[in-house]
Amino acid sequence: MSGAEREARVVAGHGRRFAVETEEGKRLVCLTAGRDVSPVCGDRVRIEDEVVGPRILEVRPRRSLFSKADNRGKAVAVAANLDRVLVTLATRPKPEGFLTDKYLASLAGMGIAAGVVFNKTDLADSAAAMDAAGLDYLESIGYPVFRLSAKIGDGLGDLQRALQGHCSLLVGQSGVGKSSLLNALVPEASRRIDELSSATEEGRHTTTATSLHPLPGGGALLDSPGVRDLVLANREPQAVAALFVEFPGYAQQCRFQDCLHLQEPGCAVKAAVESGGIPESRYKSYQRLVKAMKQAEDRKYD
Ligand code: GDP
Ligand code: ZN
Repeated sequence: MSGAEREARVVAGHGRRFAVETEEGKRLVCLTAGRDVSPVCGDRVRIEDEVVGPRILEVRPRRSLFSKADNRGKAVAVAANLDRVLVTLATRPKPEGFLTDKYLASLAGMGIAAGVVFNKTDLADSAAAMDAAGLDYLESIGYPVFRLSAKIGDGLGDLQRALQGHCSLLVGQSGVGKSSLLNALVPEASRRIDELSSATEEGRHTTTATSLHPLPGGGALLDSPGVRDLVLANREPQAVAALFVEFPGYAQQCRFQDCLHLQEPGCAVKAAVESGGIPESRYKSYQRLVKAMKQAEDRKYD
C-alpha cells in the first residue's frame, strides 16, 4: 500500500535515517527508497508514506552543496541549499590565517557565499587578535564581517539580522564558540539536537551529525560539529587564483595571461603584495594551496 506523496526538508541525517519536516511543520523519521537516493541536511525531498513508514523517494535539485574533507582529504557532502557559510574566528583559540584563507577559497570553489564571524570580543586582547586576523582587509575585499560576543551578546543583533531569511552554517576551529552562537541565536537548539539525534541515530550518540534549525524570523541556521577541513573543488593549480576573490582584478595586468603569480616576471599580483595592496599572509596562503594542488596533480600521474 502506498500513501500520498509530500514535500519535506531534511533537518537531520545519520546513516540511512533522516529526520524531515513537512511543509506543515510535522516531523517524521524516514528511510530512503533506494541506494541512489542520498539526501543530506537541507535537502528538499519528495516523500511517500508506506506501511513500513515514510520513505524519501527523491532529492530535489540543489541550489548548492557544501562538502567537508574527511581525514584522508576526500570530499564528503554535508549540507545542501546553503546560502552562506560563516567562517568563525575568535580571540581564542588564536586565528590561523592559512585555515581562514583555505576555508574562504574552498567556499568560493563551491559557489557558496562566505562571511566571517569574529567571536569573543569581550576578552581583553580581542583588538590585537582582530588585527592579526586581517578582518579589515577581508571586509575591504567584500566579505561581510561580524564582530561579536556570544557570551555578553554584543554585536549579536547585526548577525541575527543578516541571517534572517537565509540558510547559513557556521564553520571554524573547535573552541571558537560555534555552539555558543547557535544557542544564542536559536534558544531551543540544544533540545532540538538531542531530539533529532535520538530520532536518527539508532541509539548511539555522536556529535558529528548535521542538523537544521529554523530561525525565529525565517531562514535557518545549520549545525555541523564535524567540519574540520574543507577541500578545494577544482584541483587545477591554474584555478586556485580565481578562488582568492581579489586576485582576478590584479591578474588582468599580469604580463602573461596564464600567469600563476609565482615566479613570472611582470606579475601584477606579486607587485600588489610588494606595495601592500595584498597582505603577505594571504599571498603565502595562496602559494601554499597552489603547491598542495601541484603535489596532488603530480601524484595523479605517478
Ligand atoms: P565550539 O567548539 O566552536 O562549538 O565552541 P563552544 O561554543 O563550545 O565554546 C568554546 C568555549 O568558549 C566555551 O568555554 C564557551 O563558554 C566559550 N565562549 C563562547 N563564546 C564566548 C564569548 O563570546 N566570549 C568568551 N569569553 N567566551 C566564549
Ligand atoms: Zn601574475
